Amino acid sequence: MIEYRNLRIALLGAGNVGAQVASLLLEHREELAERIGAGIDLVGIAVRDLKAARKANLPEELLTTDAESLILGADIVIELIGGIEPARELILLALNSGADVITANKALLATHGPELFELAEQVGAQLYYEAAVGGAIPIIRPLHDSLAGDRVERILGIVNGTTNFILDRMHNAGVSLEDALATATELGFAEADPTADIEGYDAAQKAAIIASLAFHTVIPLESVYREGISAITLEQVEAAKRAGYVVKLLAICERIALGKGEGKGEGEGVSARVYPALVPEGHPLAAVHGSKNAVFVEAEAAGDLMFYGAGAGGMETASAVLGDLVSAARRHVIGGPGIAESRHAELEVLPMSAITTRYQITLVVEDRPGVLAGIAEIFRNHEVSVQTLVQSINDESGASLPAATLVIGTHEASESSLAATVAELASSAVVKSVVSVLRVEGL
Ligand code: NAP
Repeated sequence: MIEYRNLRIALLGAGNVGAQVASLLLEHREELAERIGAGIDLVGIAVRDLKAARKANLPEELLTTDAESLILGADIVIELIGGIEPARELILLALNSGADVITANKALLATHGPELFELAEQVGAQLYYEAAVGGAIPIIRPLHDSLAGDRVERILGIVNGTTNFILDRMHNAGVSLEDALATATELGFAEADPTADIEGYDAAQKAAIIASLAFHTVIPLESVYREGISAITLEQVEAAKRAGYVVKLLAICERIALGKGEGKGEGEGVSARVYPALVPEGHPLAAVHGSKNAVFVEAEAAGDLMFYGAGAGGMETASAVLGDLVSAARRHVIGGPGIAESRHAELEVLPMSAITTRYQITLVVEDRPGVLAGIAEIFRNHEVSVQTLVQSINDESGASLPAATLVIGTHEASESSLAATVAELASSAVVKSVVSVLRVEGL
């Protein structure tokens, strides 16, 4: 049997994830070598500050601030610095020098993915990124390989642990968003500046990555519609609970028939979007609690699949990085060029106005004869049909006119019709206020 030379691994970054990757790699080096069929040598770890405290005991002689020199001598480069620069420049350098690259960097992939994948293809290298979405959860490889022969119809993902923790606490502990966020910060689930999580930017990056992969189409981050959870109130969460729903921040990636075109692939588009939505209590995603993540995939032949687990954490994310390392190392041993990302479908990326969904609209209206007929007419004007209507009389002693609260669930309709309906309701003389508008998903 031919003995393969030891593979040279360069690690960039020794923070939350990098320190755990280094420590696991050193600890399990022999066992990983057995699985790979070749030895692996961690030849160095690039950091910014040699004296910074580390979350794992790492051999000092491996640390360096010279990332470029480290990269030039490596077979496989693991990028765990994060952010756009210098991560982008360093990955380009690694690919140009013939190394395979592993990254967990969703921000970089969502904004510069096409440039990186193109270069990898040109030079015959491979870029691995299992850890970029869903931390420890295997979702990239299932979409890339296991489902490569199927047609993914829709993905509903809870891909941000911070917002799931907050919404879950609002639902189960009955606390406000601000209080739930304070607890998340205390427990280390939220960053000092939580904007990227709360406003859905992090989930949008992940949506762009998984939609590109699932639909074999480049989905630019700018085309991902995004709403965060900052406007979600405890009243909305409690009303949802009473109606048998859970509020979840969802990343939704969907194949949409455009209703035209004869040939396969024609007449289809894709939508990638992030917003808080009502999920029925019985849906598997409703049972995803705390900071856990889950990705629910609906495929033509496979049916429904759900991938669940820890979406972040240094050790958990390191598991996904090491899985990529074993794949990359095996590829080196076997030889041959990397497998290019499949982006052949080139489906049209659709705006929000082209999607269909359901709304749950809560209104306060005057409680007098003829009001319901007026409301029904507004729905009819926009060809939106009402599926459920629950009315309760408000206890407003002393108010000049009695008021009622209407909770209206619609059938599926186009987003543009639904939005126009809400706009007309808001300006109607009989509607005192539009209290809440949430989309319903997962029915
Ligand atoms: P982190 O804790 O901030 O660590 C970043 C590391 O990069 C630090 O060790 C830092 O060095 C090093 N670094 C920064 N600038 C550098 C430079 N110019 N040259 C060399 N090294 C440099 O980040 P993290 O939480 O481990 O995240 C790493 C990546 O994993 C990110 O892309 C993130 O999105 C992704 N990810 C993280 C998680 C998670 O749970 N944390 C989950 C999934 C994906 P010093 O230590 O010397 O400052």
